[in-house]
Amino acid sequence: MIYEPQLYAIKDKPMTPFISEREIEETLQRAVPSGEQVRAIIDKSLHKTRLSMQETAMLVNTTDPELVEEIKAGARRLKEQVYGKRIVLFAPLYVGNLCVNNCEYCGFRAANKDQKRTTLSRDELIREVESLEEMGQKRLILVYGEHPKYTPEFIADSVRTVYKVKKDNGEIRRVNINAAPLDIEGFRTVHEAGIGTYQVFQESYHRGAYARYHTGGVKKDYDWRISALDRAQEAGIDDVGIGALFGLYDWRFEVLGLIRHVNHLEAVYNVGPHTISFPRLQRASNVKYDPGWEMTDEEFTRMVAILRLAVPYTGLILTAREPAAIRDEILQFGVSQIDGGTKIEMKAYAEKEREQDLDAEQFAINDNRSLSEVMNELIGNDYLPSFCTACYRAGRTGEHFMEFSVPGFIKRYCTPNAMLTLAEYLEDYAHNGIREKGYRLIQKNLQELENDHFKARLEERLERVRQGERDLYF
Ligand code: SAM
Ligand code: SF4
Repeated sequence: MIYEPQLYAIKDKPMTPFISEREIEETLQRAVPSGEQVRAIIDKSLHKTRLSMQETAMLVNTTDPELVEEIKAGARRLKEQVYGKRIVLFAPLYVGNLCVNNCEYCGFRAANKDQKRTTLSRDELIREVESLEEMGQKRLILVYGEHPKYTPEFIADSVRTVYKVKKDNGEIRRVNINAAPLDIEGFRTVHEAGIGTYQVFQESYHRGAYARYHTGGVKKDYDWRISALDRAQEAGIDDVGIGALFGLYDWRFEVLGLIRHVNHLEAVYNVGPHTISFPRLQRASNVKYDPGWEMTDEEFTRMVAILRLAVPYTGLILTAREPAAIRDEILQFGVSQIDGGTKIEMKAYAEKEREQDLDAEQFAINDNRSLSEVMNELIGNDYLPSFCTACYRAGRTGEHFMEFSVPGFIKRYCTPNAMLTLAEYLEDYAHNGIREKGYRLIQKNLQELENDHFKARLEERLERVRQGERDLYF
């Protein structure tokens, strides 16, 4: 069967670095897959078992076009089986772009004097959130540079402000964070403000590559960053998001780095990451792009299929960095969350007519569709858009959430809650015929429910939404 070396057996300990380059490199070298092995690995994943690093390496090293197609077909099936047609929607909101670091790829880096620096005032933050609520958004990720001004108290305060903003029927029900690593006390402060997920991307799991791109500021310290989400766990944040920035180093290495990170969190905290992100390097203000490790579209789509198979129950996030065509393709085989109507220039949601300006944003995005356009396309392609935030509000997070992460759970909670939040969207924000299309999709999904008693309960709640009640969920 599949080769499982015990050579490296690094004993995972809390807050202790766990990446061994030798382990990852040798695992990749040793993985020479036969067709039979690749099929056995796909089959294992279709039985909803997480793959080992060795098995993931086998998929990563598969280049035979027929086998690659089988990997993608497997990912497509797994996604349908585990997640159904549901896609969760969110929007990023940049709170401040001051930064002390000099990450070479980022428009916000301290040395970039052309970047227009801003931190949203309380009123500006409120206006941005009102504009997002007017679009129909319910889930946000707040993004910050790394700067002494963005203390845990500052972050916590902005989270509380966002939760308080209510425009008409609008409200933000889940605030996630993408910000610099904090110490345990800092994570505790942010946790108390009621955040959903805390994301920190390792950027590159390879120490050498990491050192090349992070030459100054706090972010230089690889070990402080790799142990960030351990500290978040110690502080009680059990929904954490990991990620790698693809294009800095060999994508095969980074995929195994991500899987090793999943293993570490499972070994030490008994719960893997809630989500994995895989941004690809984009153009940015005054950034000289080095295409040395540029990932082709084909490699990128294949990589997402491999990740889907490797971690069947972990949410995969795809952002508007990618153009609409790639997003549409990748949705089929793996992604569970996308952003919609995204604007990443500071203050851009409230200032609706503003032109895109590379010197006022972190990097360029390639999908400029409005939320309404994204909704229209998702519904047209039979996907079930969801603004659901029920789990985290009902305490179904972390280890607890893992217990529920079985297919029955998605049927019992996620799909009905997707329908209820879609109905809210259709009532409050839909125009141009989306309302009718959306209700037809809800009807179709209702018909597919097998349990008549449950179906009746859901129909009753959908009717209550139509009558004006909001925020109903299972
Ligand atoms: N400053 C914090 C940090 O570095 O962790 C917050 C995150 S930063 C604002 C969000 C993420 O954007 C980074 O972690 C990085 O992966 C990604 N990013 C930076 N520059 C990028 C670029 N040129 N193209 C695509 N993604 C980029
Ligand atoms: Fe600052 Fe984050 Fe950009 Fe690095 S990636 S320069 S830390 S905002």
